[in-house]
Amino acid sequence: MKNKKDYKIEILAIGSELLTPYYQDTNSLYLTERFNDLGMEVFYKTIVGDDWDNLVLSIKQALDKSNLIVGMGGLGPTKDDRTREAFATVLQRKLIFKKTILKKIEERFNRRKLSMPAVNKKQAYIINGAEVLENRNGTAPGLWLDTGTKIIILLPGPPHELKPMFESSVWTRLQNFRTDYSVRKILKITGLTESKIETLLTDLYPREPGLKITTLAYPGQIEIHITSHSKQSQDLAEKKTQKLIKNILKRLKENVFSTSGEELEAVIGRLLKHKTKTLATAESCTGGFLGHRITNVPGSSNYFLHGVVTYSNNAKMNNLGVPSDLIEKHGAVSSQVAEAMAKGIREKAQASFGLAITGIAGPTGGTPEKPVGLVYTALAWDKETEVSKNLFLGNRETIKFQSSQKALDMLRRHLFKFHISKED
Ligand code: ATP
Ligand code: MG
Repeated sequence: MKNKKDYKIEILAIGSELLTPYYQDTNSLYLTERFNDLGMEVFYKTIVGDDWDNLVLSIKQALDKSNLIVGMGGLGPTKDDRTREAFATVLQRKLIFKKTILKKIEERFNRRKLSMPAVNKKQAYIINGAEVLENRNGTAPGLWLDTGTKIIILLPGPPHELKPMFESSVWTRLQNFRTDYSVRKILKITGLTESKIETLLTDLYPREPGLKITTLAYPGQIEIHITSHSKQSQDLAEKKTQKLIKNILKRLKENVFSTSGEELEAVIGRLLKHKTKTLATAESCTGGFLGHRITNVPGSSNYFLHGVVTYSNNAKMNNLGVPSDLIEKHGAVSSQVAEAMAKGIREKAQASFGLAITGIAGPTGGTPEKPVGLVYTALAWDKETEVSKNLFLGNRETIKFQSSQKALDMLRRHLFKFHISKED
């Protein structure tokens, strides 16, 4: 290749399941992102089934159109996995048996106290001249073949095998093709509307080339994606983002809960751990979704003590000690009941904090006084209880998400305030 820029990349996703309505070729999105990080563009994406003739034709066409081809899927042991054979046929290269690969596959089975099925032997064949890319998460090894005019990369289909293989073996090899350095940052925000953010940031939108902001709004969360490119160095690309992020933070202040792409539950987890505080939750309309999010974070057992779903009035009274007259007088969806739930679970679990949610997720059950989307979230700590009345829009699922988000955010802001006042 005369010039790095002359590379035409094609991604060939192989597998009949990818042509059904049930599976998506998500690998190519990931690969495209990583190629773009190097300043390399993807020219073509093709999806082809397992049929031999179609597969051979697609490979021929890819080799005609492109000079860097990533073929993925169909490296497995079954009869319909024929990617290796098809590439070898089109390239008119032999398949060569590698004892070292077979040993690795056998060892993988032995570690699980299983003996290797005979069909796996075919995975030990490589296309003549190819380098083997080790698969630490499966049996199918990948291949890297440089024919002098074309680069061919074969990767396994399962994303949990493809991604680590790409990062550990392909990424370093691709550094020679780099034409650009790039940095991507994600700022996550809650508690402000998209239009408010737009107004606050409008004059900060960068005009310099190679720096771009995109805003993505979801119910309960807004993300600002910043991408920065430099032809010179990673450092320069990084520096361009730093000044911009600093200015954004000055404007949006504590409404930004993460500058590293972290989820809100991970942020509160980190804060609770740092302060050695504990948490318990009582949920009604979210049905355990808040607890689910909290426990999605590895290490949450360090601070999450107890979570209950008290859906009925009885459950609220029996499990949390919510007084029956409170429910009778104000209803289960009320500020008073939310407060009693947060206090109740905090005491029951002997936790530093109690978080509670009670509301109407819909689509039925709303009244003019208490419409669908009315949700009370409450945070109890040793001295006080704070309650928030919210009116969320959306379907059942998004109302549940927004409710959990609000509850987590009340805790985050409380911990953040405490943090600032202690350390400033
Ligand atoms: P295996 O050894 O698991 O058979 P393989 O390389 O033969 O690996 P496939 O059999 O083609 O891979 O695919 C296995 C699974 O990986 C598919 O069922 C699908 O869930 C997933 N997969 C394959 N290709 C893609 C793709 N392009 N994007 C996302 N997932 C994929
Ligand atoms: Mg397979």
